[in-house]
Amino acid sequence: MARIAPDTSDDDLPVVTPEGSEALDEPTDDSDVVSEPSESSVSTISLSKYVNAIIDGYKKDTQFSKALKAGVESGIYVVKNGLLYLAEPDGNRLCIPNVKVGEGRDDTGKNLREMLIEHCHEVLGHMAARKMNGMLRKEYYWKTMVEDVKKYVDSCHSCQTRKTAPTKQYGKNHPLPIPEAPWRIISMDFMVNLPTSAIGGQKFNSLVVFVDLLSKMCHLVPTKTTVNGEGVARIYFEQIS
Ligand SMILES: [Zn+2]
Repeated sequence: MARIAPDTSDDDLPVVTPEGSEALDEPTDDSDVVSEPSESSVSTISLSKYVNAIIDGYKKDTQFSKALKAGVESGIYVVKNGLLYLAEPDGNRLCIPNVKVGEGRDDTGKNLREMLIEHCHEVLGHMAARKMNGMLRKEYYWKTMVEDVKKYVDSCHSCQTRKTAPTKQYGKNHPLPIPEAPWRIISMDFMVNLPTSAIGGQKFNSLVVFVDLLSKMCHLVPTKTTVNGEGVARIYFEQIS
């Protein structure tokens, strides 16, 4: 198997920048087969320092190691400086092998795919899996991307807690008992600040609304916004009881 010499130049990898902003690193190579960093890409993560790890990772990956051997002739992939890209009509996507890179707090390293997902998810404000896939697939390719993103989002603590209701579960509804006869239980409400009207020399600008809970019969009694408790009680005893 031909060994592909890694080129660790910083110009080879897409540097993803927030949507609408400009890509920081432009490839200096004039090769017409390699995708340029897209302006509509995801985040500000540079993969330059992981080039060697990525290239090493290809060798251990069944799909990517075959693809590297086939190279440009496969018609599906593009190889540039040892890096593998999936050729798509809307641009080439960098193939990300399942590798650990030296970023973990312990020395075990961190999975590069997971790093990309995590970064994208956090930078984009805990976006849903479907949107994240749309963003990630503009730049990167690996076979299980869709499942991996879903798994990550499903396990994100912030996303899960945000979906939880902020209050306790509501109890069951307890309907009011049905009254045995009309006008045993009534509801009372006010309609205030209505246009003033005069009845029998008195001016009113509000209504007290009495509704019988059984028949839903409604009595509207004119009153004023200045009416007090005593006044309302009087209305009730004179008009309803
Ligand atoms: Zn989240």
